[in-house]
Formats: sequence, structure tokens, C-alpha cells
Amino acid sequence: MRSLTFSSTLIGIEAHLVGVEVVVSNGLPGLTVVGLPDAAVSEAGARVRSALKLTGVNLPPRRMVVNLAPADLRKTGSGFDLALALGLLEAMGEIPQGILQDCLVVGELSLAGEVRGVRGVVCSLTLARRTERISRILLPACQIGELPQWSDIEVVPIENLEQAMRYCRGEVALESTPSSVMSSPKTAVSNDLRDVRGQALAKLGLEIAAAGGHHLALSGPPGCGKSLLASCLPGLLPPMTEWEVAEVAAIASVCQERTDSRVRPFRAPGNGISSAALLGGHQPGEVTRAHRGVLFLDEFPEFRRDSLEALRVVLEEGQVKISRARFRTIYPAHFTLVCAMNPCPCGRFGVAGEICICTPNQVQRYRSKLSGPLLDRFDLLVSLTRVPLVESSEVEAEESSEAVAQRVSDARKLQADRGFLNRDLRGPNLLQALGWKNQDRAFAYQLAESSRLSMRAFEKWLRVARTVADLKQAESVSRRELLIARSVRFSVDAEESLVS
Ligand SMILES: [Zn+2]
Repeated sequence: MRSLTFSSTLIGIEAHLVGVEVVVSNGLPGLTVVGLPDAAVSEAGARVRSALKLTGVNLPPRRMVVNLAPADLRKTGSGFDLALALGLLEAMGEIPQGILQDCLVVGELSLAGEVRGVRGVVCSLTLARRTERISRILLPACQIGELPQWSDIEVVPIENLEQAMRYCRGEVALESTPSSVMSSPKTAVSNDLRDVRGQALAKLGLEIAAAGGHHLALSGPPGCGKSLLASCLPGLLPPMTEWEVAEVAAIASVCQERTDSRVRPFRAPGNGISSAALLGGHQPGEVTRAHRGVLFLDEFPEFRRDSLEALRVVLEEGQVKISRARFRTIYPAHFTLVCAMNPCPCGRFGVAGEICICTPNQVQRYRSKLSGPLLDRFDLLVSLTRVPLVESSEVEAEESSEAVAQRVSDARKLQADRGFLNRDLRGPNLLQALGWKNQDRAFAYQLAESSRLSMRAFEKWLRVARTVADLKQAESVSRRELLIARSVRFSVDAEESLVS
């Protein structure tokens, strides 16, 4: 007797279809799994045998072979247990023939036959939805809350093996509708700009960063509110598209994190983090967990230098390529980077009324940790100062994140029409996007010349000016936007000295 059903295996954050073929025949009794299984898959036999026994089914003393196809694809994880058990039941004639041939089955089995959650169940759902021959997915009932919206496929939540058997025999109807799982669309739970007192320039910087997708560096003494400001950024970004929500849900599912995938991620790893945890390995790293959201690195110069160098490549490519022995994958990593740093190791350099105790050498070393090429990725460098107590206690109505987010959303629409996010504008595309008049161009070149701007710094300035114009819904970049952009980016001299 033979049976065929489907399951899936994860590579990176993508699930791949695996055919589970079971043949029960005469021969030496035993259960063999073939088709490049890893240890967890090979051990499935023991779990399945016990689960079946405790569900009241004894395996016959016959030869049982399970083939996982395609044979050249490495199968990992414990998600094959349920498919294997149901395949065996079908091949033994315990459940009707052919019942599983349009099913994708995922789930780990406990020895008693309970169905346990697996990594990447959202990825399996995505796979099932886009595979034509699959019209149903059987998955662990405990993971139903992790799933994003679906409408095009039957989702069958399974609690235990016995229930799965009864479902296949048509004795119980198990169905789950998206409406029972999904609540109303959610707004971001991040901090609100209304809670930040003063810091008008930094807020403008944040708004521009949100609108143009620019990476942002904040420099200022400890306690001036850099972290609070950064945590407001996800709430300023436009709502995610359905596709983006699915991506974020898939990543959370692979990491087995319970997060609300309708809210843009905000990740703030500490500076002691290893390269592997930041960039990823067998599990997605922080850069991938921040995908479609914000990665905030506080005390930026304290991060490991090799991590920062690798980060530069990630920013350029929008993805991480992991290549280890026998393991190769690509994780998406498209995020806005916000980094914060003190002006010097002690944090008092240049602060009015305070004395810096660092030697010039220490200051230089601290700043030089930001290598030129990485610093180059930041279009915005905003300098913050501590808000005096008098000012911070003034109860003045601050603009809410919601109002700013509306402007950001309108500005993004203009960029979508042009086909480029402003942070990706370079060379001819940038000059074309500016749409400036002759006198404004002359003004920009003159100002750049007099302040000895490098070509690179000049382009950054123009990109930021384009975003300022977008926020005002202005067709072309004029002198006014150029000047605003210049005031937000911190002194170019400072930037150049950081690079050198
Ligand atoms: Zn100092």
C-alpha cells in the first residue's frame, strides 16, 4: 500500500514543498526515512511510532519506507511528524485512500500524540497558498493566532493525532476562518512624538528620515532623549502593505516570536551583541528581525567593528547572505537604521557647562570607529543638545505622531510615482528628481563650493532637500528646501572630520 501527502521544509525564511511518500510492504519489519533528512527528521520515526501507539494504532510488523522528495533538498526540523503519521495511517488503510493528496501537513508530535508548534508555520501557509495542487493546510491548532489574513485556502487546525485521524475519516469538521483570528487593523504601539518635549530640529530630522527612508545618526550627550526619539520612528512610517505584513509575519514565525506583525518592527540590540546575532546564522539576526521597520543601535561606536563593517554591506544590498559549511541562505533586511552616539566616550564633549575628561586621542579613536564607508550611508546626521529643564516642563501642545505620519505618507506617494525612495536616489536620477530651477541650482553649487563639500556630501544634502520638498508636496526643490536640509544635517565640518 502506498500513500502521498505534502509537507514543507524551511530554507531561510522560505518554505519549500516536500512530498511525503509512504510505502508499506512485505519484508523485514522496520521504519526507514530516506531523502536527505537531518537528525530531527530521522528521529521522527520514534515519535510517530509512540504517538500512533498511544492513539490506539499499532504499526504492523511490515517494512515501512518513507521517502521525502525531492531527494536533493535537505529536510530540517520536526515539522514532518504529523505528515509522516498520517501517511502511514493511509498506507495502512486506517484512513481513506487519496484523502491527503491535496494537503500540506505540518506539525510536530509529542510521544502522546499531541500536535506541537513548529518554526515557520506562516511560511508554510504562504507556500500552500501559492501551490496549485494544495487546497488545504493542516497545522498545529496552537499556532493559529500567528497567521496573517488568508481567504484562498482551507486552514485546518489540529490539536492531536486522534483528531487528525477523525478529520480524515470525515467524522469531525475542523475549520478556521480568518475573521475569528484577526482583529481590526492595528496602529503602532511605539512611543508618540507628543511625548518628546522640545528637540524641534531632531523631530524634523526624524520626520525627514521617515519620509525619505533616510538612515539617521543622532549625536548628543547622554540623557538628551536619543532613544525616545528613535522609538517614535516606527509610528511615523506609513502602514505596511499586505505583502510586507506577510513578510514580517514570516520572519517572526521563523524566529518563533509572538509579535504583532501589523506593526512595523523596532529592534534595539545592545552593543555587546555578536556578529552572528546581529546579522544572522541558522536563525535570522537582528537586521532581519528589523525588516520593514527600524534598527536602532545605541552607543553606535561601541559595537564590534566587524559587525559594523558587515552592516554596511547589508544596508547596500537590503539582504544578508549567510554562507556556512553546508548551510547557505539569504535573509531579507530592508530597514531604516538609526544610530545614536555620544560626542565622546565620557559624553560631555562640547556640552555647555560641562568638562570633557577624554584625551583628544580618545575622542579621535571613538569617532574613528565609524568608518567612512559606513558613515556614508547616513544621509542625516542630527546633533542634539539637552533640553533645559524649564523648557521641558513647559506644557505646550506638541504635534502628535499621527499628524506627522500623514505628511510622511503623502510624501511617500510622490516618491512612489517617481519610482525611487529618496534614499536610493543617485547621480542622474537624483538630479532629475530635483526638478530645480536654474537659479536654485546655481545657488546650491555656489554654497557647496564655498563650504568645500565633497561630491558625496553634496548628494546627501540634495537627497534630504528632495525629501523636505516632498513633505511640502512641492514639485521642485528650491533654495528654501536646500537651506532647511542644510540646517538639519549637522555641521558638514563635523562629518568630514569624523571620516578623516
Ligand atoms: Zn569626553
